[in-house]
Amino acid sequence: MIEKRDFYIDGQWVAPAAANDLEVINPSTEEPCAVISLGNQADTDAAVAAAKAAFDSWAFTPKADRLALIEKLLEVYQKRGDDLAEAMSLEMGAPIDMARQSQVGAGSWHISNFIKAFKDFGFEKMLGAHAPNDRLLYEPIGVCAMITPWNWPMNQVTLKCVAAMAAGATMVLKPSEVSPLSSIVWSEIVDEAGFPAGVYNMVNGDGMGVGTQLSTHPDVDMVSFTGSTRAGIAISKAAADTLKRVSLELGGKGANIIFDDADDKAVKRGVLHMMNNTGQSCNAPSRMLVQRGVYDQAVEIARETAEKVTVGPAHEEGRHIGPVVSELQWNKIQDLIQQGIDEGARLIAGGTGRPEGLNKGFFVKPTVFADVTNQMTIAREEIFGPVLSMIPFDSEEEAIEIANDTVYGLTNYVQTQDGSKANRVARQMRSGMVEMNGTSRAAGSPFGGYKQSGNGREGGVLGIEDFLEVKAVSGWSND
Ligand code: NAD
Repeated sequence: MIEKRDFYIDGQWVAPAAANDLEVINPSTEEPCAVISLGNQADTDAAVAAAKAAFDSWAFTPKADRLALIEKLLEVYQKRGDDLAEAMSLEMGAPIDMARQSQVGAGSWHISNFIKAFKDFGFEKMLGAHAPNDRLLYEPIGVCAMITPWNWPMNQVTLKCVAAMAAGATMVLKPSEVSPLSSIVWSEIVDEAGFPAGVYNMVNGDGMGVGTQLSTHPDVDMVSFTGSTRAGIAISKAAADTLKRVSLELGGKGANIIFDDADDKAVKRGVLHMMNNTGQSCNAPSRMLVQRGVYDQAVEIARETAEKVTVGPAHEEGRHIGPVVSELQWNKIQDLIQQGIDEGARLIAGGTGRPEGLNKGFFVKPTVFADVTNQMTIAREEIFGPVLSMIPFDSEEEAIEIANDTVYGLTNYVQTQDGSKANRVARQMRSGMVEMNGTSRAAGSPFGGYKQSGNGREGGVLGIEDFLEVKAVSGWSND
């Protein structure tokens, strides 16, 4: 059993103020695999005090020195890639090959992109040619609390921490208590990279404890949160009394609009995208909207594709999908699949219960429903499992209306070989991102949502700006 009870505060590994053990469960076996501690108010206060004490000096550390530390961070991150992959595979069930490539890879991608964005980032700008003595100074916001979820652990941690480091902010990370092991390795990486004590701190804890203590703390200037819409609302309310900036990256219910002139691979690509990470991605294309003329054919392709998706334990190599993260999630997903059946959707692949041959572990059958209406629970709620809903539509207008008829607005997807139609539809999507014809967003493209999917923008230049204040100065001397 792994024992990792300490927190990383002020450049040191320190024991919790009071013992409060929590077992980490391996979702492939349902057995405990590690013990961590949940912090309390004293641990939170110590971490915030360290971040506050480090702020003045870090904020004024020359850009070149901060950049050199982030470059060193990337080097150490890559060296520790296998340790991070093993930690994530164990704690949240990502199959080991996928953990190495995608889960660890997402972190290196973000750190590299921040390095590029940071190199060109100007922290001082002239207001405009009309006002040569007006300056805009971009300054770090202060002490930031980073509260992260379990589904893409290093993706979220790097998006927040590295952007804040570049901005000159200091921070306390509280990773998900469900997936704390990778963030412990991450804290070792930050330590080895040689950041000054107090710039980065990490306290483990749950939402009601350390999460709330950070959201209400008078010395925390900003909370950057990724997770459920439920917790995003709770954090916003908790942060209101001290008027902190709250940056939110929340849930989604993405539409993938497949027009009758889409390319041959569009349906298969959409199903596989849905199943990736066992459906546990906020930007998953979980509602596949298919134009009536190609609907029957699409249903058949979706069934065949889902039936070929294999499921297995996270420690095994291969291209299978792993378990979902926890018993809580497994039960929630089972209930939603049953609700889909009860509300009259047509089950064409998967269903309730574990896949054949897997009697233990939080494994879910890759599931596809056809003939879903957008009013059904499975089309409205974020399921966060390998469950796809297929909805037929007739016209472009109807597709746009269905796609936007949700409280979420994170990523939508458009599949058509008609470029002007694709652009027209993209303009009408009420979402922070639109991905068309399988083209991924490029380096530095901002990740974030509209509506109840949140308000932050992470990654690249906009990701750094999230952690900055703007100071307007007049009478600036240009001598
Ligand atoms: P969650 O909201 O339960 O937990 C996320 C984090 O918030 C954890 O660290 C948890 O301890 C903490 N937390 C929970 N309640 C809190 C409270 N009241 N105050 C302070 N902190 C609190 O979410 P989860 O189950 O870990 O993650 C899944 C959710 O995250 C999904 O809804 C998913 O869509 C969303 N997500 C969004 C993005 C995005 O960028 N938009 C990315 C990944 C995941």
